[in-house]
Amino acid sequence: MAKILSGKIMSEELTQEQIKRVGELKQKGITPGLAVVLVGEDPASQIYVRNKGIACESIGIYSRTLQLDKAISQADLIRVIDKLNADTKIHGILIQSPLPGHLNEHQILSRILPEKDVDGFHITNAGKLFTSQDSVIACTPKGIMYMLKNGGVELSGKEAVVIGRSNIVGKPVAMLLLNEDCTVTICHSRTKNLKEHCKRADILVAAIGKPHFVTADMVKLGAAVIDVGINRVDGKVVGDVDYEHVKDIAGFITPVPGGVGKLTISMLMENTLEAACNLAP
Ligand code: NAD
Repeated sequence: MAKILSGKIMSEELTQEQIKRVGELKQKGITPGLAVVLVGEDPASQIYVRNKGIACESIGIYSRTLQLDKAISQADLIRVIDKLNADTKIHGILIQSPLPGHLNEHQILSRILPEKDVDGFHITNAGKLFTSQDSVIACTPKGIMYMLKNGGVELSGKEAVVIGRSNIVGKPVAMLLLNEDCTVTICHSRTKNLKEHCKRADILVAAIGKPHFVTADMVKLGAAVIDVGINRVDGKVVGDVDYEHVKDIAGFITPVPGGVGKLTISMLMENTLEAACNLAP
């Protein structure tokens, strides 16, 4: 039976630490501030944005949500970002995805000052990660690495397989695992013999978006299985891993809910605190 890597417990511990750090910063006259920009009224995005606001409040970070019309032009959204870049109360800026199709997401994300890019999606931060330089690390990959290290999973020299090649999860987590001396394979929708790749993995990260996709026969005995997926099935949230069966084979496993998602929010708080420290005069 696998050891459960509980994002809920780890995030609660981090929250306590972060409350202290915010208190110390406030004593120095710095109140960390996060701006979340939401374009349109996508219900799932509204929930994510609300949760981010609640997390800020719980540790004492100042937060501001900008709810913008879904028809906003590229130029107007750029102007909003420029204002936030210049706002000394704001240390972190997050643009909630997905953006409506008429907007150029790459251009918008790269308009944020790299120092305020708490999502780590700016081309400068992505490029620094790629070249092993200190950078703002995207929250979900950063949370995954925290879970692995905090959970006592050995990384150096291990076989890591990442299923999914998105810019926000698959690629950055593969790079972070590589930087920890794992031997990394990235699998995706066109990968042949997916099961054989997965079977070799000491660390298996599933970031696909398909409920219960990773089954017990794809998992090596004792592997660390990290489930990034958030899928809604019959009103319930489930991951990409068939948790009930995989937990009997894996050495470590993350639940959904209560796993990677919790750490993602904790790492957003972490990145905002770090940005506030770095931007402090
Ligand atoms: P995405 O849709 O951008 O990428 C999915 C990836 O899965 C693609 O690279 C694709 O090649 C791969 N894939 C699809 N079908 C496949 C198949 N049959 N075999 C192998 N690979 C296949 O998704 P994303 O943004 O990376 O998110 C992935 C999942 O993680 C989603 O469920 C998303 O909701 C969730 N997510 C969770 C968090 C969190 O905080 N827990 C954060 C971000 C994303």
